[in-house]
Amino acid sequence: MENLKTLKLENSNQIQIHLCKFCYDRNFSMKKTLLVKYSVSVRIMKTGMKVCYICRNFFLGTLPTIVNKILNSEMFGLTTYIPAIDIGTRLPFLFYENEDHLRSMFQIKGTTGIKTQINLLIREKIQENKKCYIDHLNPELKFDVVIDNDLNFSIDCKAKEFYLLGRYVKLGRGIAQKDKNWMKKDSQTYCKLTDKKEKSIEYAIRKSVWSEYNPEDMKITWTGSEDKYSLVLGRGRPFIVKVINPKIKGPEEKKVLEENVELHLRKIKHDQIDYYGKYRILVTVFVKLDRKIRNIGHFQSLMQTLTGEVTFRVKNRITTRNIYFAKLVNADDDKLEISLDMDNGIPIKQFVGGNEPIKPCLSNILETKCECIYFDINDVILNK
Ligand SMILES: [Zn+2]
Repeated sequence: MENLKTLKLENSNQIQIHLCKFCYDRNFSMKKTLLVKYSVSVRIMKTGMKVCYICRNFFLGTLPTIVNKILNSEMFGLTTYIPAIDIGTRLPFLFYENEDHLRSMFQIKGTTGIKTQINLLIREKIQENKKCYIDHLNPELKFDVVIDNDLNFSIDCKAKEFYLLGRYVKLGRGIAQKDKNWMKKDSQTYCKLTDKKEKSIEYAIRKSVWSEYNPEDMKITWTGSEDKYSLVLGRGRPFIVKVINPKIKGPEEKKVLEENVELHLRKIKHDQIDYYGKYRILVTVFVKLDRKIRNIGHFQSLMQTLTGEVTFRVKNRITTRNIYFAKLVNADDDKLEISLDMDNGIPIKQFVGGNEPIKPCLSNILETKCECIYFDINDVILNK
């Protein structure tokens, strides 16, 4: 720490403190610049040549370099329009300490501090360039500048998150939705590591989002799930990906074809997300009965009574969904194939078997113990 005792004495009883024009004008434009302390006179000098006591010539040397680096950031490539940005700075402790020291000596109060002036100047110079504009509340890019005591600095830039609406189609059986190998700490090497392991929908999503947008992280929100052995056909099941701090702008829309998996990804606005949470599914359910079917016509008519509300419990809360259509498609020996048009979210195995409370339930309606062998989703229909 530098203080008055260590400053070089110009002569036996006078100390000169040199300040750059920024630090001088900020603190001394209206103040006296000379005082006598312990019989030593202290004089503040505005200098263009010597090193500034407060900022070490940050304003003249380092600040323009920082502005230049920000303006030439590759992150501007993430947007096609003029982006809103915000800039935060962390200054060396020495700046505050030196300024406070002088301020208390000369009893300066209520003037702009060094941090405020640095931030104002950086923002002013950035805006002059018209490459971007400043928005503290909702920036597309957020720059963080950290400066150390030796005036070395680093600039970190984070891009605002965005959302993808995804849809997946599963053309083969045995593909799990979630990836049991997924661990957050593996995120950088996850794709390579998992390549030889069992594939999943989650793996396909993470791999393509990483390669297209190179984000720091991502969060997948599912809108429901099906069995590992279920097919998902038609337009596919929707899901949402929050893409956190992307490094690449990436496409607005993307279709990915993997073995037995098709993905569609499309950028959407945050307020559109809710729309994709509720939908109907068209399902084919394959059922095994505990005895042979004798009267198919009777089953067919009983099946129609399934249409209407379905009530069940989810985490101790009573939930109601709807079945819009139910039909017996095929019957053979002790097996049934039924077709349902229903709200997403009805637990299908429970609805068939009734081992846990659900009303109505196929086993009860047919008065025969039923078991769901498997089910396939034929299409997904968004409400509206
Ligand atoms: Zn200065």
